[in-house]
Amino acid sequence: MPELPEVETTLRGIRPHLEGRTLREVIVRESRLRWPVSDEVAGLAGSRVLGLSRRAKYLLIRLEPGVLLIHLGMSGTLRVVDASVPLRKHDHVDLLLDDGQVLRFNDPRRFGTVLFQAGDQPHGLLAKLGPEPLSDDFDGPWLFQRSRGRKVAVKSFIMDNATVVGVGNIYAHESLFLAGIHPSRAAGRISRERYERLAASIKTVLGRAIEAGGTTLKDFTRADGQPGYFAQSLNVYGRAGQPCLQCGARLKADRHGQRSTAYCPQCQR
Ligand SMILES: [Zn+2]
Repeated sequence: MPELPEVETTLRGIRPHLEGRTLREVIVRESRLRWPVSDEVAGLAGSRVLGLSRRAKYLLIRLEPGVLLIHLGMSGTLRVVDASVPLRKHDHVDLLLDDGQVLRFNDPRRFGTVLFQAGDQPHGLLAKLGPEPLSDDFDGPWLFQRSRGRKVAVKSFIMDNATVVGVGNIYAHESLFLAGIHPSRAAGRISRERYERLAASIKTVLGRAIEAGGTTLKDFTRADGQPGYFAQSLNVYGRAGQPCLQCGARLKADRHGQRSTAYCPQCQR
């Protein structure tokens, strides 16, 4: 599943190809995505692309009449290719640009989203989101203050979009390991100092993933390429039962909701 680093990398990959261009045509071949793609989207032909940005895992394409929100869902990808490149299965939406290139949205599982919001008000989907993890609004004191009185496991707490956006399962695993915090510890029972470490770890882990993604940027314009979801070095995710890379102890697993979380019983308290 595309996580925040993949979405950020996608943004950096496609932005230079879109900004300042005009949409010659918008082709919707399959409108049954997570939510139906409205007829307004096809009506965006002729609009100029004013800018691209990201909020949580949403890509925001700012056009003259409003904002196009794209979410990659479980399996979505975006590529910039020449309009003559043959379609592949699951190429659902094309934004054809005035230079003959096309931004092509592919999504086999169709949990992705292409929504249009007229005007410059932020979309309702973005209203209740917590701070961006790599911004200065997100830090240890924020986590500390938000967590007081909370009995929820710290792993669930940091994966909640109202706490901070973009900390998916892999990144929660790795950040907690890096900060030395047990994933099942009650969020309200962690000190301010340890939250400082956790906030820093989240920034480090996400920042590294985005850096790793930078090396795959070229794939976004390859006709045959599968835009990169990058391999990352994992300390605990998917490694329950194997030795801790730091101390050699056998990694254990706890359940949080539907998910199992691997951790080191020695390094994480
Ligand atoms: Zn260990």
